[in-house]
Amino acid sequence: LLEARGLTKSFGAVPVLRGVDVVVPAGSVTCLIGPSGSGKTTVLRSLNGLETPEAGTVRIGDVAVDWATRPGRRAVSALRDQSGMVFQAHNLFPHLTVLDNVTSGPVLAQHRDRAEARAEARDLLERVGLADKADAYPVQLSGGQQQRVGIARALATRPRVVLFDEPTSALDPELVGEVLRVMQSLAAEGWTMVVVTHEMRFARQVADQVLFLDGGVVVEQGPPSEVLVEPREARTRQFLQRLL
Ligand code: ATP
Repeated sequence: LLEARGLTKSFGAVPVLRGVDVVVPAGSVTCLIGPSGSGKTTVLRSLNGLETPEAGTVRIGDVAVDWATRPGRRAVSALRDQSGMVFQAHNLFPHLTVLDNVTSGPVLAQHRDRAEARAEARDLLERVGLADKADAYPVQLSGGQQQRVGIARALATRPRVVLFDEPTSALDPELVGEVLRVMQSLAAEGWTMVVVTHEMRFARQVADQVLFLDGGVVVEQGPPSEVLVEPREARTRQFLQRLL
């Protein structure tokens, strides 16, 4: 469903991605792990055009972008429409209710029918366990609840792929579990997900494949039972040992 090849990106003179490939089958969960600064977030943002690589291709469904040809705004926006993004901090609109936050994408950007979008949004809020918070404002919610609204909002545009950028790293430890449980249930429903995470237990339990990045390259990839349990590469082993 999603295929990125040869992603290459520098910030100034510093190469951050040095030819990264990511292939994600439909209905599967891919976790990107690796040390701080290894390029995980940059890979994720390259998949939806929030970052512009110098080279490489990204295809999601039947929408493809070749970064080397410097695609225009319209091509990048077509790519962006294929995915939903959940950020580290939830990024909700503070002046809108929870329900209006969730319907903002489908109504304002996709011009879908308002009543239909609201019905679908209520359904999504129920799926993330927040049916009773539809009329609340973000400030009235806990960080974990806000992040679950962020997930509902990312799903509301009916994306083919949901991209998560360290969705629990800004949360108090006791709020992490509720967000990971929602993500696990989405995976079970068959959503295609790419998740940058430091939560190794989540990666082990939920991922179909794990990509270990270091220094802007994919050092090792495979099912979590291999990469996280019996890593082949010394660099992967060192990274995992430091987490223990
Ligand atoms: P972390 O786990 O700390 O979020 P990461 O693996 O996601 O790290 P990236 O955020 O992709 O890493 O960053 C990779 C490198 O690129 C880092 O060295 C970072 O400092 C650098 N970088 C990222 N964004 C920018 C930017 N806008 N301008 C300059 N350098 C950047």
